[in-house]
Order: sequence, then C-alpha cells, then structure tokens
Amino acid sequence: MSNHQASDILRAIQSINSPKVVITTHHKPDADAMGSSLGLQIFLKNHGIHSTVVTPTDFASFLHWMKGSQEVVIFEENEEVATELAMNADFIFCLDFNDLSRINEFGEAVGKSNAIKILMDHHQFPQGFEQLTYWDDKASSTCELVYRFIVESNNHQYLDKDCAACLYTGIMTDTGSFRHSNCSSNTHRIAADLMDYGIDHVAIHDLVFDSFTEDRVRFIGYALNKKLEILREYKTAIISINREELKQFKIQTGDTEGLVNYGLGIEGIKFAILIIDRTKLVKMSFRSKGDFAANAFARNHFNGGGHFNAAGGSSTASLEETIQQVKDSLKLYLKELNA
Ligand code: 5GP
Ligand code: MN
Repeated sequence: MSNHQASDILRAIQSINSPKVVITTHHKPDADAMGSSLGLQIFLKNHGIHSTVVTPTDFASFLHWMKGSQEVVIFEENEEVATELAMNADFIFCLDFNDLSRINEFGEAVGKSNAIKILMDHHQFPQGFEQLTYWDDKASSTCELVYRFIVESNNHQYLDKDCAACLYTGIMTDTGSFRHSNCSSNTHRIAADLMDYGIDHVAIHDLVFDSFTEDRVRFIGYALNKKLEILREYKTAIISINREELKQFKIQTGDTEGLVNYGLGIEGIKFAILIIDRTKLVKMSFRSKGDFAANAFARNHFNGGGHFNAAGGSSTASLEETIQQVKDSLKLYLKELNA
C-alpha cells in the first residue's frame, strides 16, 4: 500500500462540481477522532469544500466545545440520514480507524457506497477498503496527519484558530500530553505551530482533563480502591467494571477514558487492562510499556487491534468469562512479560 499525495487527493475532490463529502471516524470517538474530523472539516470549509461529519455513536461531552461538534450527524441516533449521506457521497474521509468493523453498522453503508473512500489513519495493519490513502503508523495521531495534509498541499492559509484548537487537542491526548513514545520533536514543532494560531492551550487542557463530574472522580477512586487487581507474576494490572457500577456512578460516554493508564503507573507493571461490560459487548482497553505488544494481545485473543502500546478489543462472552479468558491468555505471555 502506498500513500497518495495530499495535493492529488484535494485535486480529485475539486475535480467534481459541488462534491458531496462525508467525514467519518470510529465508534465512541475520542479527542483524536473528533479533533481530526472537525479540524479537517474546518480546513475543507475554508478551502471552499463543504462536508458533513458522521460519527457511528455519540462522543464525550468534554469535546462539545469543538467547532462543528453540534452539527455532527450521529448514526446511532439518525440512521436514515447518516446512511443516505454515505450512499450519496462522492468522497468519504475515514479518519482514525482502518477497519470498517470500527464504525459498527455504519460500516455497511460506507462499504456499499460508491463514494471514493479516503483513509487518513495511524493504526497498524489497515484492512485496505479505501481507494485513496494517507496513512502513517509513525504519526502521533490522526490530527498530526490532518496537519501534514494541510501543510503538504501548501494550504497553510486555510488553517485557522478553530482548526488549530481541534488538531492540537487530538495530538495532546493521543501522545498522553506529549509523553508517549509516539511523540517526537516534530510533534512538538507541529504543536508549537498550532499554538501560534492563538489557541488557548490552558483552556483546552482544562476542558479535557480538569472538567470531570464529581461522579467521574468518585468512580475513579472506587475503581482504583475496589476493582484493581494486580497480577505480579504477569506484571499486569486489571480493572473490571460491571453494568451495575456504570449505573451507580452515572457513567457517561468518555467517563472511563484514561482509567486504564493508572495500572501502568504502578512500579513493576508492564501491562494494564480495563474490562467494561457495555450493553452489547464487553469492551477492553490494553496499555503496555516498552516492548510488550498490546495490539498483538488484542488481535490474537479479543478480535481487536490498535497501536503497539495502546490497543482495544471486545468479547461477546459475559464479563466474568471475559476476565477469565484474559487471565488464561496471559499465561501464554508469562515469559514475554518477564523478559
Ligand atoms: P481505547 O482503549 O482508548 O478505546 O483504544 C486504544 C486504541 O486501540 C485506539 O487507537 C483505538 O482506536 C484502538 N482500538 C480500541 N478498540 C479496538 C477494537 O475493538 N479493534 C481495533 N482494531 N482497534 C481498537
Ligand atoms: Mn488516534
């Protein structure tokens, strides 16, 4: 698979009169997914190209400040409109995912649509459903790719403060506030350039990380105090949450984000797992340190994937069964985790 030039992708879109452009991103979109989608939408608009953002599901309220977030079409809440948008589109940008299963049932419409699909993504092992590719698994985030797309096509003049704020946010969260190994000096240069558009980085950090509900903070305390299990032998920390607990703490979309990272903060722990009983599936988040491949674990045992050190997966089994499957699977990695 080879990448297409940013300017060629833009030229393809501009070759059509009033092109119908849809931008979509993964289920339960995080800050990188929403920041890249809305950042791209703002850029395209400034360039004279109208687009609609469609998300498979809702997204966290701490992202509702992003420009354009109120106009997002949520497939789950508006299936007909979202499906029609996909079926009638000339182009569909697919951001921050590379496998149609990541956009749930909306994937059917996107897969069936005759639109030219444009992949912009930084996850390993793309499925290859797209016609145009702008992919780099070395990129810190999809927001960084959108920034590169704008700069490489010589369109810096169409990047504005609102766009910069969206892109900065996704870079900030996907790098764990500039601390993970996916953050390079170039990532800092991009963040610096984005700051020069006059964004309020203090406010952005505050909105994303310091605006939790009281329930969310108490839930974190509860999860760490009551639900954290340390398997020293496997250098692994597991937190599991059942439906009752989600209800008890009035957990909303986005409220469990970041919880998995606490396990990795414990000395000697290399692998952290968060297991949550969602309505249809048991969802899992995997985080690792160093050379233990979290995405291989997700892929091999839980129908998942993601990045080397940050991945996810799911199971249709019960919560208890899934916890047991996780523990059984860990046995295969005893040596690797203790290397
Ligand atoms: P999170 O744990 O924050 O939901 O996801 C961590 C990373 O793994 C993200 O890059 C996300 O896109 C990816 N990911 C999460 N769940 C899945 C999944 O079920 N399948 C695949 N292929 N990737 C996932
Ligand atoms: Mn991302």
